[in-house]
Amino acid sequence: MKAEIEVDLEPRSLAGTAVNVLKCTGGCKKILLHAVDMKIEEVLVNGSKASYTYTGKELEVYPERASKGDVLEVLVRYRVVEPKAGVWFVPTDNGKPYIAYTQGQPEDTRFWLPTYDYPNRKAAVELAIKAPKGLKVISNGKLLHRSVEGDFEKWVYRLDSKIPTYLIAFAVGDFYVKEEECDGILLQYVVPKGRKEDIERSFSKTKEMIRFFEEYTGVKYPYPKYSQVCVDEFVAGGMENASLTILTSATLHDEKAHLDFRSEPLVSHELAHQWFGDLVTCKDWSHLWLNEGFATLMEALWRRHELGMDEFVYDLVGMIDSYLAEYGRYARPIVTRLYKYPDEVFDAHSYPKAALVLWTLANVLGEEKFREGVRRYLEGKREQNADTEDFRKIMEEVSGLKLDWFFEQYVYNAGHPSLKVSYRWDEREKILELRIAQTQGDDSLPKYRLPLEVVIVGPEYREERKIWIEDRQHTLTFHLPSKPRNVCVDPEFKVFKALTLDLPPDELLGIVTACPHLYPRIVAVRELGKKASPTHVDELAKILLSEEEFWGLRSETAQAIASIGGQRARETLLQALNQVKHPRVRRAVVRALAGFRERDVAERLAGVLLDEDESYYVRAEAASSLGKLGFREYSEVLVKALETKSHNHVIAASALESLALLLGDGALSILEKYLAPLTPMPLRRAAVASLGYLTPAQKVLSLLEQASKSRHPHIRLAAVSACMRSLSPKVIPILERLQLDASGRVARGARDALEQIRRHLEKGEEYRKLREEIDKLREEERRLSERIERLEKK
Ligand SMILES: [Zn+2]
Repeated sequence: MKAEIEVDLEPRSLAGTAVNVLKCTGGCKKILLHAVDMKIEEVLVNGSKASYTYTGKELEVYPERASKGDVLEVLVRYRVVEPKAGVWFVPTDNGKPYIAYTQGQPEDTRFWLPTYDYPNRKAAVELAIKAPKGLKVISNGKLLHRSVEGDFEKWVYRLDSKIPTYLIAFAVGDFYVKEEECDGILLQYVVPKGRKEDIERSFSKTKEMIRFFEEYTGVKYPYPKYSQVCVDEFVAGGMENASLTILTSATLHDEKAHLDFRSEPLVSHELAHQWFGDLVTCKDWSHLWLNEGFATLMEALWRRHELGMDEFVYDLVGMIDSYLAEYGRYARPIVTRLYKYPDEVFDAHSYPKAALVLWTLANVLGEEKFREGVRRYLEGKREQNADTEDFRKIMEEVSGLKLDWFFEQYVYNAGHPSLKVSYRWDEREKILELRIAQTQGDDSLPKYRLPLEVVIVGPEYREERKIWIEDRQHTLTFHLPSKPRNVCVDPEFKVFKALTLDLPPDELLGIVTACPHLYPRIVAVRELGKKASPTHVDELAKILLSEEEFWGLRSETAQAIASIGGQRARETLLQALNQVKHPRVRRAVVRALAGFRERDVAERLAGVLLDEDESYYVRAEAASSLGKLGFREYSEVLVKALETKSHNHVIAASALESLALLLGDGALSILEKYLAPLTPMPLRRAAVASLGYLTPAQKVLSLLEQASKSRHPHIRLAAVSACMRSLSPKVIPILERLQLDASGRVARGARDALEQIRRHLEKGEEYRKLREEIDKLREEERRLSERIERLEKK
């Protein structure tokens, strides 16, 4: 694939030639290229004019005489003006563009480059980008040369490794570029001018990460360079274009944000894709988990490497949480062909669930064997495509195990195992009876097969046992010298499953306070939140207030205390607000306090919101909690917070949402100020989404309508959220239009919102019918009693 493209920022257009080099594998009558909304000026095959048909989406080229073995160079001369996707000009909606960048995944490269645009074809790429002189251009691979041509400068890049079209990318802008080297690889950090000082905080771990991934996978970083380019108003979080990751500039942050915000999760995830996704690419989107599951797992493994076991395990807990949240809405097999838009499979099944399944596989095989399998997978499929069966076979070869059962239950079927664990100690017989039941419902398999580690810790002993769970019910007995202190099932979270502990509160408290492993403590503290009484608050408070304990556990404790509720809980959380230092824990405390609808709580939270010594994220949380508490008199404090500068505008954005919650229609004039196209993206999104809290009067509807026509998909998504919140039938026309959106995410969001509104309306209808029935019954009852009265009188 070769292209020469002139990028003109001001008119938001590009023009040039694209050359697809193809080899005929048989007789070749026509060649199909994807090309959306282009003006096709000319098509040449091997230098001669060729006939073609163009539908606005596909370009069919008819080569004269081509037979098996022939190499065809198909050149398309074309022009694109204001593309709807694929290449983005910043600012997106209005104003003079200062950045242009591409986003190809899943199938948007066709909006700027005529080519065969599916992941299952890979090619070496040479891109010559002509951009206005003075701007920087970054693209895939090595920079071959630069030359000035009039007001433009041409930058020629080449990547010899074969990559799929969705990874072809460029970025043009007034950037600051910092460079260094890592074992012969050129590393570039590219940021908008003025953000130079923030590079270190976000990217200083890059070198170490590359070495870690090379070591873990046994495969060298595959490209000659690695550029990380930050762009404003990015349409995704990060995109792993081969050797050129594009990231949201929102990941850049100042010293203060660094207290409780890190770029490493994003940076490590995108870097891991250079192996998983770029070097080896999923054959089609139904096997996306091979890209995203691995990137998500590698991100967690980097965290384990950098921050330790507790951080890693808590990351796994976060993964199952986000999967279960999605599972509450729908369940699908990880590998599925049932989707309308490819964007649909970019969900919590492909990311966290898939990562947990891979981690489970690593533990079934043993991590060393797993790593060996990963190495063979990457080497064996280098610069090629792979599907799930390819991966399974390699893992079977390396382990010598049959793994069809594993893939069948976790990858090709929907749902997950739910384990309910309980135990009883018999003091007279010195026997522990441990019961493990599979309790998953009909949307999952009736029985799962999985290995479980059980660790029993007593005053002077430790028992470890590895068991295979296969049946719905398992009862295990252990003869022990004395009553165990802790019984831990899967203490290190090695197996993907939902786990509940069916134990009395005191036993749960014992796990929370004394278990040597984090995962059982998290499960137990969540269970306690449901079962405990105010008598347990003091014990939980010790953990919450101890700076020695892991912040994740402390945060969970704050939530559990809030769930227990009552005066003691409230006092404890307010005391925590005085004492706790860790900003992540403070955030959890502030969030937990939203459950106590009292004025003095609001007063304290207002204090947090206005306190400049607090972290941005704690203050933003305070703004949210104030909205939830519902005291209108705090709207003044929130209005003041709108002026507060913070990382990614988190404080002002939360304040805006809370104002809409508190004031309803009274917030319209405030929201309107933040709806203007040049408002920073996070504030504009918050303002649009907050319109959903207002009565859908004509004015609100027209503002929503306007937002739904934004060029930026995030603004259109915010409009969808607003519609979802309002649940009013008046927004249906807006959603019906968005259902046909160029962005699959927006289209899908609109479809889901429409479904919810319809269900809501039906419920309204059901409710009306029910009322009518009740009224009828009442009327009947009245008549009956009158009759009885009459009869009695007689
Ligand atoms: Zn990813």
